[in-house]
Amino acid sequence: MPPYDLAIIGGGIAGLGVFECAGRAGLKAVLLERGAPGRATTAVTSGLLHGGLRYLPYDVSTSWLMCREIARLRAERPELLTRQAFLWPVYRGDRLGFGLIEALHDEYDVFAGLRGARRHARLSPEEALRVLPGLSREGLLGAVAFNEWRVDVPGLVAALARAGAEAGGELLEGRGVCGFKVRDGKVAAAIVDGGRGEVEARVFVNAAGPWAEETARLAGVASVRMRLRKGVHLVVPGEPPPHGLIFAGPGGRRIGVYPRPGETWIGPTDEPHDGPPDAAGVSPREREELRLSLARVLPELASRPCSAAMGLRPIPRQTGAAFLLSREHRLFDHAAEGRSNFLTVAGGKLTTYRPMGEDVLDAVLEKLGRPPAAKAPADGERGMPWPLIRTGGLAASASLLSYYAVRRALSGAGRRGLAAFAEDR
Ligand SMILES: Cc1cc2nc3c(=O)[nH]c(=O)nc-3n(C[C@H](O)[C@H](O)[C@H](O)COP(=O)(O)OP(=O)(O)OC[C@H]3O[C@@H](n4cnc5c(N)ncnc54)[C@H](O)[C@@H]3O)c2cc1C
Repeated sequence: MPPYDLAIIGGGIAGLGVFECAGRAGLKAVLLERGAPGRATTAVTSGLLHGGLRYLPYDVSTSWLMCREIARLRAERPELLTRQAFLWPVYRGDRLGFGLIEALHDEYDVFAGLRGARRHARLSPEEALRVLPGLSREGLLGAVAFNEWRVDVPGLVAALARAGAEAGGELLEGRGVCGFKVRDGKVAAAIVDGGRGEVEARVFVNAAGPWAEETARLAGVASVRMRLRKGVHLVVPGEPPPHGLIFAGPGGRRIGVYPRPGETWIGPTDEPHDGPPDAAGVSPREREELRLSLARVLPELASRPCSAAMGLRPIPRQTGAAFLLSREHRLFDHAAEGRSNFLTVAGGKLTTYRPMGEDVLDAVLEKLGRPPAAKAPADGERGMPWPLIRTGGLAASASLLSYYAVRRALSGAGRRGLAAFAEDR
């Protein structure tokens, strides 16, 4: 009998989420990480547990799931979360004016209770400058203020690793998987340490993030295809601005300014990456475009020396425009390819690590012939508040946005100003 019920390959947030869930279900799990846990993509995210404002118009179920997960994490690990206020300034000539931005936020506000936020507020130019003095004033028409949650990513990584280990799991750092032994239609062992070692288990889960396609190929599996998207942040050391910011970056894409202790992250970009994940890097053009965009809204911050951080979004291959890609995670069962005990999980978000872990666990338990695990209850478990949006997807959401925009235009909807924003902090 193999020593482990489950071997997980990859110690990013996805693999660690599976590790924690496996421990809770009483499985003997081993996690194989070629470097140190949480040091790849997971370390270079924007560091937000956010409600998926950007996905709302076309992928509302992911937004809802993200909001539900925020509710769970706020209840279970509040010490890891810090409320982060953001301003979305509107300048004369901007493609998105107050009408659409506030309509989008009206829709986002439907989930405000779930994600522990208050409704958005609209600030006049004077109010926006008072709360964020470094903001460019030329052409400023005002700003929309809202909040999200900043997460202590290293703290979350450590908490998940600890939870899995305390439940009897083993986390092996510096153990890169370079191949698999296959016997009788099953993966029998993962080959590690450049061929010098083997780890046997009853079930194997490939959670290698951007390297999921490569790792699946090591097991002779060709069905995992990724559509990697590169995200670059500028990292500016020194005193961060008092609040975050959202503004239009290269190509009109929304860019964030994320204050962190002792530094500020600005980004991320979103560009395709073809080729091996290890070949991805930051080009001088990407840095310069980000810096020039930042200079339009926060010139002092843009003038400081900075470095850059890069990660690849591990999005499973799908057709469609880049800005409409679904961020739902996907679980691949490789039984049909002659690997009956081999699964791959890919996609998802930092915010949705737990639903990913739970879905993987259910599939693992089924393969082990055990009943599904009981899931931790959550505030949002009653379901999405608006079944219309859930089923109608893009079309329903677009109609809803238009409805909010028209309603605002007709009613001249009440402006919640600085007082409401101060409440939100
Ligand atoms: C720029 C950027 C910003 C983002 N911002 C946010 C955000 O603010 N909020 C949010 O919710 N989501 C965000 N995301 C999305 C989300 O953070 C990522 O999807 C998630 O962190 C990816 O985690 P992962 O575990 O899949 O991958 P990774 O963190 O890359 O983990 C994969 C691990 O597998 C290991 N590995 C690979 N191959 C092998 C092998 N053969 N053997 C052993 N180990 C192996 C790697 O070393 C790595 O540690 C962002 C993504 C990007 C790129």
